[in-house]
Amino acid sequence: RSVTGILAVQGAFAEHAEMLDRLGSPWRLLHSANDWDDSIARVILPGGESTVQGRLLHLTGLFAPIAEHIAQGRPVLGTCAGMILLARAIENEGAADTASRGAAFAAAAHNNTAHDTTARNDTAAGDTARNDTASSGSVHRHAAHESTAYFGALDAVVRRNAYGRQLGSFETIGSFGDIHDLPLVFIRGPYVTEVGPNATVESRVDGHVVGLRQGSLLATAFHPELTDDTRVHELLLSL
Ligand code: GLN
Repeated sequence: RSVTGILAVQGAFAEHAEMLDRLGSPWRLLHSANDWDDSIARVILPGGESTVQGRLLHLTGLFAPIAEHIAQGRPVLGTCAGMILLARAIENEGAADTASRGAAFAAAAHNNTAHDTTARNDTAAGDTARNDTASSGSVHRHAAHESTAYFGALDAVVRRNAYGRQLGSFETIGSFGDIHDLPLVFIRGPYVTEVGPNATVESRVDGHVVGLRQGSLLATAFHPELTDDTRVHELLLSL
């Protein structure tokens, strides 16, 4: 295995490919399940629109092989929408505080008519990647302020469009783990509202958690692929 598979159903996948070109590392765009094979060593889930990507993951047949890849503990970098796709739970902008989520989950449990297959397991965060593959036939209904989770592997609650939709784009300098002085580009990004015990905080901006690591899962609310700094991609390649 040596190739980085870049999810290319929607969003900013080309910029990730350019980053890997700069690092001289082979990549393949993943448009459909036909693009998947055993040469894929790691996966990048790019920025874009997570709800669209989530639907297309299922339509293209890419959900299952990527969920399996995650369940095997292989490396993934999820940026922005990609972080949302990895999260165990998703809040939408304007979400009330986390206390409301219990009610949302209860509502979800009573409504099985949604078309998205789901990856989530509310109670066993540490086992989500494994459970996801096993339970990919089950469904949850979107409830107020709460969206269906996708891979559900990252032990965190992520709030979509957390900085707002209009004014949610900005740049700053921060860190990802021991990568310091890192340019951080946010485009209607999420931030993390809850971090479970399996994930570690790698980045914070203004008190908000915007970077996480869980084993070989790396997740950023920002877009390292939109900068000249290749260090986050180098970290992915080193895993
Ligand atoms: N707002 C987008 C979403 O919720 C993410 C934005 C991005 O990936 N730049 O999916």
